[in-house]
Amino acid sequence: MSGNERKYIDEAFDTNWIAPLGPHIDAFEKEIAAYTNVKDAAAVSSGTAAIHLALQLLNVRNGDKVFCSSFTFVASANPICYLGAEPIFIDSEPETWNMSPRALELAIRDALKEGWLPKAVIVVNLYGQSAKMSELMTICNQYDVPVIEDAAESLGSTYKGKQSGSFGKFGIFSFNGNKIITTSGGGMIVSDDVELLRKARFLATQARDTAPHYQHSTIGYNYRMSNLLAAVGRAQLEVLNERVEARRAVFKKYEEAFLNRSGIHFMPELEYSKSNRWLTAMTINEQETGVTIPMLLEALAEQNIEARPVWKPLHMQPIFTGARFYAHSEDNAVCEQLFKTGICLPSGSSMSVVDQVRVVDCINEVLNNCGSQSAQTA
Ligand SMILES: *Cc1c(COP(=O)(O)O)cnc(C)c1O
Repeated sequence: MSGNERKYIDEAFDTNWIAPLGPHIDAFEKEIAAYTNVKDAAAVSSGTAAIHLALQLLNVRNGDKVFCSSFTFVASANPICYLGAEPIFIDSEPETWNMSPRALELAIRDALKEGWLPKAVIVVNLYGQSAKMSELMTICNQYDVPVIEDAAESLGSTYKGKQSGSFGKFGIFSFNGNKIITTSGGGMIVSDDVELLRKARFLATQARDTAPHYQHSTIGYNYRMSNLLAAVGRAQLEVLNERVEARRAVFKKYEEAFLNRSGIHFMPELEYSKSNRWLTAMTINEQETGVTIPMLLEALAEQNIEARPVWKPLHMQPIFTGARFYAHSEDNAVCEQLFKTGICLPSGSSMSVVDQVRVVDCINEVLNNCGSQSAQTA
């Protein structure tokens, strides 16, 4: 928390705005829209709900097909299934770890050969790094396929000077407890289409028709954010830029610590983009270091340091067995390789230097021990 959360919550209590809607919601929506430089924003109960509504607003239905990044958290694709549509997964490319324009183009050409087009493309900005939005938007615009930008992890990042989340027809953000700013749980849809966002709010409040009685002609959801949580979100947004700088500083320290180690590479950042570095992610080459991800995770866990593997690609998940997947190139599924070699290090905005040195020391110890072992066996 940053400091002002309690003040804004007290304000909500003092004015008795505890009911889901209220002035903090309206203000939080305006502030997110202003920050990301889009026309409007609709606050909802989670990032997942935001994706669900965005798909619904694009008329995704039973039997439709939706393209989605494979290298992401499962929440990017689950809403496709809520609507009875079929997810088709697209590989990453090495420069951003995000959706490969080449694989996307291949997938679209294949679809056209079969006489259909995807109803939408969900592009994810992983760990804060923007995907190659220019290339991806050019392809999607060429075929008139709308893009939903899953910016759940990239609020505060920029690409070619524009805010992450502001490129597609819809952008979605998450304020879950683990994200760069949080309302404990919550989400937002942003768009320049004010009319569709009005519809998003309508669907998110049980789709209640304008009538003196309770009348419904569409199936709706209970997906709105509460006024209390929006109060928290407003205070968090005030410190977003500081958080981005703090996370970038954490990333930079890790990068510097392993600068002279061969076989260790950090998640790249495109020259013309700025990542919020939500999580510091790196890869470790087993041949060069003799160290695998499970070895590293175990050594860190022994020191009570929590690290995580990178996301397991969705096309490799049991729930998506048999789903179609388009690789970056014939002999190279980039996200499968990243899954084998990638790890997310502790990256909290308030991480102390002492804690970070502990993490670095622990990793160095594993590298020194195993490095010499593999040298001996060689
Ligand atoms: C966190 C996250 C979501 C889901 O957001 P929730 O608010 O947890 O529902 C979706 N996509 C990505 C990439 C995420 O990291």
